[in-house]
Amino acid sequence: VKREKPTIPYIFYTKDIHEEIESSMLFEAELKIAVQNEEFVVYYQPFIDLKTNTVVGMEALLRQIKHNGEMVLPNKFIGVLEQMNLIEKVGIMVIEKVCIQLRRWLDKGYKVVPISVNLSALQFKNPNLAKNIIEILEHYNIKPGYIILEITESTVMEDIGLAHFTLNELKDYGFCISIDDFGTGYASIGYLKKFMFNHLKIDISFIKEITKNNQDRAIVEAIISIAKSLHLTTIAEGIEDEEQLAVMSEMGCEIGQGFLWDKPISSTQIEEKYLKRNA
Ligand code: C2E
Ligand code: MG
Ligand code: MG
Ligand code: MG
Repeated sequence: VKREKPTIPYIFYTKDIHEEIESSMLFEAELKIAVQNEEFVVYYQPFIDLKTNTVVGMEALLRQIKHNGEMVLPNKFIGVLEQMNLIEKVGIMVIEKVCIQLRRWLDKGYKVVPISVNLSALQFKNPNLAKNIIEILEHYNIKPGYIILEITESTVMEDIGLAHFTLNELKDYGFCISIDDFGTGYASIGYLKKFMFNHLKIDISFIKEITKNNQDRAIVEAIISIAKSLHLTTIAEGIEDEEQLAVMSEMGCEIGQGFLWDKPISSTQIEEKYLKRNA
């Protein structure tokens, strides 16, 4: 009897793969040192009230600054930090950097707007998350009204019970909560009711072609309508031109964020461009 040779799945272990592994190990090693040395800065991108055309808030967006001055964007390192179990540490670092900045601006007598901070789903695995965040605010004497916390649908899906508990703790203390990148995750619309968010951020992917694509327009219209009924403020991410702005305003979206007004910029630039002293 002639037997078939069993086929064994294999891959070619080529020089390319070897180099890829080596460079990703190097990237992780460098990232670990960057976290130890806090080689990160927070950039800020304004939120604009579409009716009054004024800045009503801004989002804190993390950047890694390498020794040669090169800036690394979060899409390159947030996922890696999550895999390396470093996101909790970095997440707390971001809250602290934002509180230090707010304290400086308040001490200088500037009128400041609330700052929105992104939280990773993995941070919600820690039952002490709310307590840890609150401790930092108290240390810098910052009121929770100055901070908005942004979470994504995956945050509420990971461990619904614990997420619900932590979010209630945070809301009871006085934080506002935004649901970020809405429409791209797996959470059902019913979660909007269960979690009682304050703001809903419409994902950039629906805004990109909003002036040309009727389906995107229909989806965004439906999202805004649901948000209104549930008393959520709507924020459109990624508005880049006047045409997108016109469509979003006409649909009743309340707040915009995008390159039309500004890219994320440094705290110094924010101070020069937007902050005014109290009279
Ligand atoms: P996100 O929270 O959805 O933040 C909005 C992203 O959209 C930012 O990218 C911002 O620069 C970009 N954006 C804003 N307006 C426009 C526009 O008009 N056009 C285009 N093309 N893009 C626009 P960024 O800063 O690269 O951040 C990417 C993602 O990294 C964030 O998405 C967020 O998920 C994550 N991230 C950033 N900072 C942190 C952080 O401190 N902690 C955690 N856990 N995640 C963070
Ligand atoms: Mg965000
Ligand atoms: Mg977003
Ligand atoms: Mg996004």
